[in-house]
Amino acid sequence: MKALALLSGGLDSILATKLILDQGIEVVAVAFVLPVAAEKEDYAKNTAKRFSIPLIRVEVGDEYLDVIRNPKYGYGSGMNPCIDCRIYMLREAKRIANEIDAKFIVTGDVLGERPMSQHRKALMLEEKEAGLENLILRPLSAKLLPETIPEREGWVDRSKLLAIKGRSRKPQIALAEKFGMQNEYPSPSGGCLLTYKEFASKVRDLFEHKEKVTKRDVLLLRMGRHFRFATSKIIVGRNEAENELLLEMKRPEDYAFEVPGCGSPITVLEGLKSKEAVELAAKLTARYSDAGAEGKEVQVEYWNGAGKKSIVVSPLDEPEVERLRI
Ligand code: SF4
Repeated sequence: MKALALLSGGLDSILATKLILDQGIEVVAVAFVLPVAAEKEDYAKNTAKRFSIPLIRVEVGDEYLDVIRNPKYGYGSGMNPCIDCRIYMLREAKRIANEIDAKFIVTGDVLGERPMSQHRKALMLEEKEAGLENLILRPLSAKLLPETIPEREGWVDRSKLLAIKGRSRKPQIALAEKFGMQNEYPSPSGGCLLTYKEFASKVRDLFEHKEKVTKRDVLLLRMGRHFRFATSKIIVGRNEAENELLLEMKRPEDYAFEVPGCGSPITVLEGLKSKEAVELAAKLTARYSDAGAEGKEVQVEYWNGAGKKSIVVSPLDEPEVERLRI
C-alpha cells in the first residue's frame, strides 16, 4: 500500500507523514515549490532524508499566479487565497498519485488551526473540488473527521490516528518531542509571504499594473524597496546580495542605476522610461547611496546596454519616498 504525503516541511506535515510511516505504509512525499514561500531552509528535503522516503518536488508554473489573482473562494488576511491554493496543490497531488499508483493522500491538516482553510467545511470543499472525496487522510485530526476510504478499507488503523484540533500547537510540539524531533521543524511564523501585509500590497500593485504576471515578477517582489510611478516601477536594492540579483534579473530593456565611487544601491527601472521616471529612479538611487546622505546633488549613472549615461540629481526627500513606496 502506497500513500502520497504533502510535505511542506512544516511541523504538522512532518508529524502526519511520520504517523502514516509508523503504520508500515509506504510513503512518497511531494513538496510544492512556491514563489511565495517565506522559508529558506529546506525542511521538506531534510525530513524526507530523515525518514528515508522519496521526495517529489513540484515547481509550480505561471498558472499558479492566476490562482492568486482570481481566487474562486477569496483571500485570507492578506493576498493569500488559501482554499484555492490548496485545491491547486491537491489536484496536482491527485495527478501524481495516479502516476505513482498511490492509493490515498496524506496531509498535515489540523481541524480549526487556520481560520480560512482548515475548518470542517473548507476541508470537505477542498477535497471535493480536487476530486479526492474520502481519499485525503489527515492523521492529526482524523478521529474528528468522517472516516476515509483508507480507514474503512483497513489500510490504515483509525484507532492509532489522532484528534488534535485548534490553534494551540502544544500537542504537536509534544508529539515532536516524543519522536525526538525537537529541532527539526521551522517556527510557525514563517510560511507564506502572501499573508504578510507589505508583500500583499506589492502583489496587489503588480496585478493592478500588469495584465500578464510571471514568476519572475513575483520573485522580484521578494527583494529590494519597491516604488510606483504611474506605469513605471522602480526597485532599489537593499544590500550587496540584492544588488547582484537585481542586475542578474534585469531585462535588456530595463535601466539600471548606480552612484559611482561610493556605497550605492543598484536600482532597476521597469515599465515606461519617461524623463520623469528616469529622474525619479536616479533620485531614489542617490537617496539610498552614501553620497546622498547629506542631501547634496549627486551624479548617478544609468544604462540598459553597454553605454552608460549620467544625470545629476538631488536625493529624493522623505515625504516623496513614502508617497511612492508600494
Ligand atoms: S498560506 Fe499561502 S501557501 Fe499556504 S495555503 Fe495559503 S496561500 Fe497557499
